[in-house]
Amino acid sequence: MNYISTRGRAPQLRFSEILLGGLANDGGLYVPEVYPRFSADELAAMRGMNYRELAFEVLSRLIDDIPHDDLRALIDKTYTAEVYRYANPGENAEDITPLKTLEPGLHVLALSNGPTLAFKDMAMQFLGNLFEYVLDKTHGELNILGATSGDTGSAAEYAMRGKRGISVFMLSPEHGMTRFQQAQMYALQDDNIHNLVIRGVFDQCQDIVKAVSNDLEFKATHRIGAVNSINWARVAAQSVYYFKAYFAATHSNDQSVSFSVPSGNFGNVCAGHIARQMGLPINKLIVATNENDVLDEFFKTGVYRPRPQTKHTSSPSMDISKASNFERFIFDMADRDAEKIRTLWEAVESGGSFDLNADGLFDKIAHYGIVSGSSNHANRIDTIRTVYEVYGTMVDPHTADGIKVGLEHREPGVPLICMETAQPAKFDDSIREAIGIEPVRPAELADLEKLPQRKHVMDADVKAIKQFIIEQAG
Ligand SMILES: *Cc1c(COP(=O)(O)O)cnc(C)c1O
Repeated sequence: MNYISTRGRAPQLRFSEILLGGLANDGGLYVPEVYPRFSADELAAMRGMNYRELAFEVLSRLIDDIPHDDLRALIDKTYTAEVYRYANPGENAEDITPLKTLEPGLHVLALSNGPTLAFKDMAMQFLGNLFEYVLDKTHGELNILGATSGDTGSAAEYAMRGKRGISVFMLSPEHGMTRFQQAQMYALQDDNIHNLVIRGVFDQCQDIVKAVSNDLEFKATHRIGAVNSINWARVAAQSVYYFKAYFAATHSNDQSVSFSVPSGNFGNVCAGHIARQMGLPINKLIVATNENDVLDEFFKTGVYRPRPQTKHTSSPSMDISKASNFERFIFDMADRDAEKIRTLWEAVESGGSFDLNADGLFDKIAHYGIVSGSSNHANRIDTIRTVYEVYGTMVDPHTADGIKVGLEHREPGVPLICMETAQPAKFDDSIREAIGIEPVRPAELADLEKLPQRKHVMDADVKAIKQFIIEQAG
């Protein structure tokens, strides 16, 4: 299996060759040359498999340059009830992603039972084990540099802590994250984890990461790697739970289901698109955005118009105005015309927009079954309250966004599965506002904010950050 770039001018590579890098060197994103496809018989055989068995079936089609026994061992080590241990009462942690049924035909898929209580652990824990395995083979070392406004940083640090050959340098803004999110990162005491708290805002953190990554000589000398949401292994690993949820919500492979996905960078829903390309009977993928509704606008109008300003909302992990994985989907929609993608993203990268109506491309949207909607703060608070009152289930504001938009697109006879992307404990302000209760958090995390913290407060200065990496790198 080869991987090709969406912009058509980078070499074709194998899975292990695209694992550690970010963008292809023509600025595009790697995707499979052709999607592997499960036959009806194969899908029938997958019904009844547990999470690890399903993960092997799906990932061994996408990763064919790691020996099968090794891949199986990496999967078996990752997807355990011990790693995804924060299942709620009534959920079976052995399911890894338990399916909660609110009422017949309406479900919530628990994706946030991992160490940082957000769905990013689903792929990031696998990535940590995969990186360690590959670096072990090559006796290599990697310095992961990233910027976070919340969930990505903690998921990456929990996945990479204590791993041989890997150091993490995570930039976060001095203000803006919740105390719980800060404590999750800064309380880690592992030597290979470096929290750089920047006197500035998230955009400055991200600009520093870009500046360092664009210094190709520094990048090569100091073996700088990335774990941001365009990482193909993350997208691939996320497609597994679409299969798991489908089999849990249906009795027969003649049925189809719809998924509602709280979206920011289009990573999660892109994994759903890939599951469908691999043959999973998905009816609709429902893209749910918050007030940063650039994706909702696209799926309604065919116009993609990234905004210069990002709004701060009560679903901060979706506060994104340019959806980095979106290019993978548009590549398929444009019949994999790399020339076309280059033209479209040239416009976007120079601050503009594109309109797919002009050449009739947007007419194909029906074929891909993606619909969309958005929520505002009041909608999310209402949804948290209603879901609690009617079903006795507490959901976080991101999940509430997905439920609100999902219900608007619900169709009779088609099971609707809403993705739970974080646990309510992470966003307690919204829970208090909606239902006046303090969300329960796992007992082990009771005193998280009181633990000693390990962080380096620094100015937003590229030179100083580079110097820090040189001194501390593994
Ligand atoms: C990252 C995140 C999202 C958005 O996921 P994308 O893959 O970026 O679309 C939604 N909810 C939560 C809680 C997240 O952490």
